[in-house]
Amino acid sequence: MSEDIKSIHEFDFTLICEYFSNLERQGPGSPEITLKALSFVENLTKDSRIADIGCGSGGQTMVLSQQVEGQVTGVDLFPIFIDLFNKNASNLKLEDRVKGVVGSMDDLSFQDEELDLIWSEGAIYNIGFEKGLQEWRRFLKKGAYIAVSEATWFTDERPAEIEEFWQDAYPGIDTIANKVGQMQKAGYVPVASFILPENCWTEYFYKPQVELDEKYLKENEGNKAVEDFIANQRHEAQLYNKYKEYYGYVFFIGKKI
Ligand code: SAM
Repeated sequence: MSEDIKSIHEFDFTLICEYFSNLERQGPGSPEITLKALSFVENLTKDSRIADIGCGSGGQTMVLSQQVEGQVTGVDLFPIFIDLFNKNASNLKLEDRVKGVVGSMDDLSFQDEELDLIWSEGAIYNIGFEKGLQEWRRFLKKGAYIAVSEATWFTDERPAEIEEFWQDAYPGIDTIANKVGQMQKAGYVPVASFILPENCWTEYFYKPQVELDEKYLKENEGNKAVEDFIANQRHEAQLYNKYKEYYGYVFFIGKKI
């Protein structure tokens, strides 16, 4: 890693959360892709119970909740996101059946076999893909679904610069075939997996950051931590542009057996 670019792990969570609370999404994705992933999920009704784990401010949860009936619980570790989540639900008049709660994905308070669907876009890395699939399985009814998106390698080999970046950011990154294997081993039928298109990164994730950065730097003039963080985000976007044929986000949809 270049000397003036820090590792993402060196930044304060408050700073990261504040920055991302200005954005509609906190990870790569799009409404179209949320709906595409949902199209593989069967048997949802108005009585279904759905959890969105690591929901952030709920960009994807609101898309999901407008498409399906049922009770939706968003869980995130940070109150700043849950406050925004509940405001978003209220603005869309979904507050009766869509609720955000503060909680940690490694200590969820659902009952065994309570849920018909677990959703998690760009967040399972916080517990680890395999561990999350294993630990969350007990909350699902038999035949219920899990849909998660995750940073994934597209090839067996890749240039050292990008390998090094991801080994630092998320050593759990792996190939599509290995992740599908992990899903099957964790007790799910791998129903589908598909690569998120580039616009989920460029248009929906990085472009709003470019627009935010100038304003954010002005508001935080002289704040070295903010400057370093934005330099870090810009570096990440440059790496994506340079190496996008080697990695991206992949949606994995599984059915509990
Ligand atoms: N799902 C959202 C989206 O796609 O816009 C947010 C994705 S963001 C990359 C990862 C989310 O995981 C953040 O909102 C973060 O606060 C949340 N998170 C991190 N650690 C967590 C934990 N232990 N339990 C619950 N949420 C966590």
